[in-house]
Amino acid sequence: MEMSCFCDSFIVKKGIRNIILGSNKKDIDADSKEMSAEEAAMVFADFEIEMLKKDYECLSSTPQEIVERICQEVLGQEEAIQKLVHVVYYNQMSNFLEDIGESAPKRINVLLVGPTGSGKTSSINALKKYFEVPVAKYNADAITSAGYIGQKVEDILIRLFEESKRNLALAERGIIFIDEFDKKAEQITSAGKDINGKAVQEELLKILEPNTIDLKLHDNTKVQFYTGRLTVILGGAFVGLDDIRKKRLCKTALGFGRANEMSEEEVQKHKFVPQDFIKYGFIPELVGRIVMIDEFRKLELEDIMRIMLDGKNSPYREKTHFITNALNVELQISMKFLEKIAEETLNTGTGARSLEAKITNVFYPIIQEIFEHKEDYGICLIDESGAYELIFEDVTYYGETED
Ligand code: ADP
Repeated sequence: MEMSCFCDSFIVKKGIRNIILGSNKKDIDADSKEMSAEEAAMVFADFEIEMLKKDYECLSSTPQEIVERICQEVLGQEEAIQKLVHVVYYNQMSNFLEDIGESAPKRINVLLVGPTGSGKTSSINALKKYFEVPVAKYNADAITSAGYIGQKVEDILIRLFEESKRNLALAERGIIFIDEFDKKAEQITSAGKDINGKAVQEELLKILEPNTIDLKLHDNTKVQFYTGRLTVILGGAFVGLDDIRKKRLCKTALGFGRANEMSEEEVQKHKFVPQDFIKYGFIPELVGRIVMIDEFRKLELEDIMRIMLDGKNSPYREKTHFITNALNVELQISMKFLEKIAEETLNTGTGARSLEAKITNVFYPIIQEIFEHKEDYGICLIDESGAYELIFEDVTYYGETED
């Protein structure tokens, strides 16, 4: 089946038309005097198809088209994004099939593993935009088990329901993203007791498996939420997981005797397996419900440079565009200086996360200086050390971009 013509051909052939022509034929026949039952059913089917097409508009694009759009915003993570998009696409297609009365496969839950600032949350935000489904983001730290005081799994579902403007059908096929999930690995205290890690993992099983959960909303109304249509994504940096993988490789024939010699890159070529997560502190029942493990890679210097210069949401492009277009000051910036910014960003150990703050600090003194000046047009030169010359017709200012 060709993905791009999914809505146009597949639905008509296999979906509602069959349902209507089957079970509802008599009702339509009785109501419709002018048209034949078949014609009436076709009109009705067309209407329903249009409605469903609207709900599942995302499926009229191919997964690859969605991947390409997201990769313009989140750079250097093509492989991970492709996997993620395919899962969401698959889950939405399953929901659609169910809606038209076809048998549908079980939804897939995903585990995103990747260093902080590598683009996991940005990718989820993009999924929301391109799949037009509600997303509820939650920090695992905030979740406690039923016996503890704090926020529970029910709160996550309520948030998704509110996020969907109380449209239950939409909420039930939404995305739940639980960030910093690695913090819920079973923790053993010095007294040898589990703090609430395991209990929370058990609590999370409620949304990882198909269940109907009673929700009591803030206005005291009640809703029954079915979790079997959700896409649940768990994410985290999983510091230390690499060592577990490395040790495992060491024991296999493949790596025997040479694991210690394996470079970080070599180790990373081997995928994580469910057993690694059990060793890390997750209960087998939970690991068993996570079918897909998706790895976001650690960003390198070239990635930060690309994010800065080519990223669709790049703070660098945003600031320089503002200076040249809105403030009418031409910029000439040393490439060496940009490399220095990228290097400093990388050295913070938080991936691309600190890029925005860094870029803002670099350009803000210049923007302030331009604000103070009345002339229409100027030129700004920034050298490799970050020193700048801001040249107007009547005056030149000198300064340093960084504090
Ligand atoms: P994570 O969830 O992996 O910790 P985020 O997606 O929240 O990271 O990224 C933090 C910030 O860093 C984002 O707002 C984005 O500006 C930037 N960023 C991180 N990774 C990338 C990337 N791969 N491409 C573009 N920008 C990125």
